[in-house]
Amino acid sequence: MGRQLTRNSLKLKRSRLTPCPPGLKSIIDLVNLAPPETDLLDLALNVPNLDEEFLQFLKSTDVREDAQEIFGEPGRHKLSIDAWIEKLLHYHHLMVVALEPFRKDVRIRLWEEALMPQRAFDKNYGPSGELSDDNLRIQRHLAHELTPRFANDTLEESVSFLSEFAAQSLDNARLYFWAFYGLAKRYIRLHEYRINLTKVMEIVALAPADRLNFSQVLYPIVISQEYSVDDQGRFVQRSNPFTDAFEDDNVDVTRIRTCDNCKKIFWAGRKDQACCTPACNHVRHSRLTRQRYAQGYYQGAKGT
Ligand SMILES: [Zn+2]
Repeated sequence: MGRQLTRNSLKLKRSRLTPCPPGLKSIIDLVNLAPPETDLLDLALNVPNLDEEFLQFLKSTDVREDAQEIFGEPGRHKLSIDAWIEKLLHYHHLMVVALEPFRKDVRIRLWEEALMPQRAFDKNYGPSGELSDDNLRIQRHLAHELTPRFANDTLEESVSFLSEFAAQSLDNARLYFWAFYGLAKRYIRLHEYRINLTKVMEIVALAPADRLNFSQVLYPIVISQEYSVDDQGRFVQRSNPFTDAFEDDNVDVTRIRTCDNCKKIFWAGRKDQACCTPACNHVRHSRLTRQRYAQGYYQGAKGT
């Protein structure tokens, strides 16, 4: 009986909360991987030609016979494999620095997800496309082995480990660049989302009537948008998780907040919610009570 009652009242309680729209939730979750209130490296500035280089690298290290058909003619500025490895070591250095402020378990998660085969449409993909069962096993095994080296080792250890690993085989070098590329893209997205979420909150903090006028100058929100050309020759806009999430009519952006205690970004299911979790709320409450005591709010009560 008691149990039944509790379940019902929980349900009632839950139904009063406005849930975070799923698209926005995944954006907030990604941003919260970064430590709050810490400057992040602007990786995009440091790897301005990443897409082009990644493509060139795949081209020049692809041993398949139909590689030229897939990638076209090799570029004019072909790099030797040694030069590529130098570049990878430089990039790895950047990534280690970029992830340095992150929690250790987050660094591990990010590296592991980048090194693991990627799943799409029920198939598994690695640096050279779809994976056979054997190659799937091999890549999983390598991912487990490499993750702690890249995520935990000191910069020096990690770079020297990578220089040996990448020099061992073309497949190794390709696996690294492929994983780095995925991770760099994710980091750059996180960085942009974080800046823009913060701007949204700053605009919300303005007086409602001032928002549209002032935000353009104070907090311009600039979003990278990718386009392509489809098989009919039409210029098409690629889907963008950030605009998809925000242009959804259910998103009341005034509910996006910074937790008063831990400073993470959260969705306020209740309008008056100041903290991300009951635990953070408890800490906040204790702090406010202490402050009130210090300011003498409770003097009367103490005197009796
Ligand atoms: Zn919190």
